[in-house]
Amino acid sequence: MPLHDITTRIAKAEADAGRTAGSVTLIAVSKVQPDARVRAVLEEGHRCFGENKVQEAAGKWPAFAEDFDGLDLHLIGPLQSNKTRAAMELFHAIHSLDRPKLAQSFARLAQEMGRCPDLFVQVNTGEEAQKAGVLPSEADAFVADCRALDLPVKGLMCIPPVDVEPALHFALLAKIAARNGLEGLSMGMSSDFERAIALGATHVRVGSAIFGERVPA
Ligand SMILES: *Cc1c(COP(=O)(O)O)cnc(C)c1O
Repeated sequence: MPLHDITTRIAKAEADAGRTAGSVTLIAVSKVQPDARVRAVLEEGHRCFGENKVQEAAGKWPAFAEDFDGLDLHLIGPLQSNKTRAAMELFHAIHSLDRPKLAQSFARLAQEMGRCPDLFVQVNTGEEAQKAGVLPSEADAFVADCRALDLPVKGLMCIPPVDVEPALHFALLAKIAARNGLEGLSMGMSSDFERAIALGATHVRVGSAIFGERVPA
């Protein structure tokens, strides 16, 4: 689907929800997509992209950065502690802060580098064993710990379980964010971003609807 169709649908979802036009950021999820497709979206003027692996992103974005100004890159996949520095050098925002060890490594490197990307705490709203994220019951304490480390926590992120109605998960994430005074809500993907916007999403992560199905490498 052309990028324009997605931005039109986002604008309509904002209006339907009585939200300010432009209050939702579209993160175009470019993981695994061929460079030509990513370049086409860049040439349409879009600058905000999401990747789920540090190494893959480090392999492709420096070249795009030579040709396009103003990139806004978001890491949306799990982060290993030993890749924290590389992630902080490449990304403007990281949506997968999910454990104390990672928080400590962000804090230490932020001191050293004098800057830190915007951070989103990932919450495992479905309490799935195989999925990353802090449990909903642990989220308040974890956010407080991150703030005590002076980390720039901007919001929360979730990936609802597959094959369930995501609205309950979006509503739960919004509730946890509100009680912690957090404005950012990273939620909603190709199949459900309009519902996420209705429930307060500030960042939607849309991949296949923009680029087409991912062809596994
Ligand atoms: C791949 C991915 C997306 C995009 O998924 P689509 O269904 O292709 O829109 C969003 N969020 C995360 C965390 C992802 O890994």
